[in-house]
Amino acid sequence: MTTLLTVQDLSRDFGGVRAVNHVDFEVKQGEILALIGPNGAGKSTVLNMVSGVIPPSEGEIRFANQLMTRVPGYEYAKLGITRTFQNLQTFDDMTVLENVMVGMHTKTHSSLFSCGMSLTTARREERTMQERAHTWLEKVGLSSLASSHAGSLPYGKLRLMEIARAMVAEPKLLLLDEPAAGLNHTETAEMSRMFQEIRENGTAILLVEHDMDMIMTIADRIVVLDQGSKIAEGTPREIQENPRVIAAYLGT
Ligand code: ADP
Ligand code: MG
Repeated sequence: MTTLLTVQDLSRDFGGVRAVNHVDFEVKQGEILALIGPNGAGKSTVLNMVSGVIPPSEGEIRFANQLMTRVPGYEYAKLGITRTFQNLQTFDDMTVLENVMVGMHTKTHSSLFSCGMSLTTARREERTMQERAHTWLEKVGLSSLASSHAGSLPYGKLRLMEIARAMVAEPKLLLLDEPAAGLNHTETAEMSRMFQEIRENGTAILLVEHDMDMIMTIADRIVVLDQGSKIAEGTPREIQENPRVIAAYLGT
């Protein structure tokens, strides 16, 4: 399988603290790679670097053979990388549909009229954007709530709304930071099915998650971090049996 993302010798310091320490891994086209590890292991910091939110202290990130280190964060969605955050990033006063459409800004003209687009073209583009947003709302099961204010939705539905927002940009790589946190068993199972469908449709996923059922069910491969360093990599079965991983989780 073709490699989509290559992370090489990646490190990140915060003041004197090394949060990520010489980490290497690859994400292949159309796979789900899970990044796991105890709290503070450096998982969110890795996602923040891979999504261009913060620069690495050392190391390289290549996406579709392009060196990403000098690419500004706002270009990432256009190049094919989108993400969700560990904490919800929603606009409570906007409708669910509007919240999802935020994810498309990077794909369309930043200012419709300044680039000389005719009104007809602008309206057509707006309609296409709305249709795509509706398609994703349907896929995540939120169609009936499209015109509700996001602030009125329960937590689990907002999590799904954020996935729709990340998917409307039609990414090649979707980064997820603990998407199942705070969800019940049924919601988590539904979300797992959705991630598998996203993968079947050709989008690769880099998944940070604590829910081991979800990880073991849907991950093709797993990378394990502990205190900033990679301590293991393998299939779900290999990782479950790895003594170093077990020790890291038990804190011994
Ligand atoms: P995880 O997501 O695996 O729980 P994080 O990547 O959030 O871990 O954090 C890894 C380490 O880096 C932790 O020790 C954390 O306190 C530290 N860290 C993360 N972000 C910052 C920051 N912005 N400033 C200072 N330290 C940070
Ligand atoms: Mg985290």
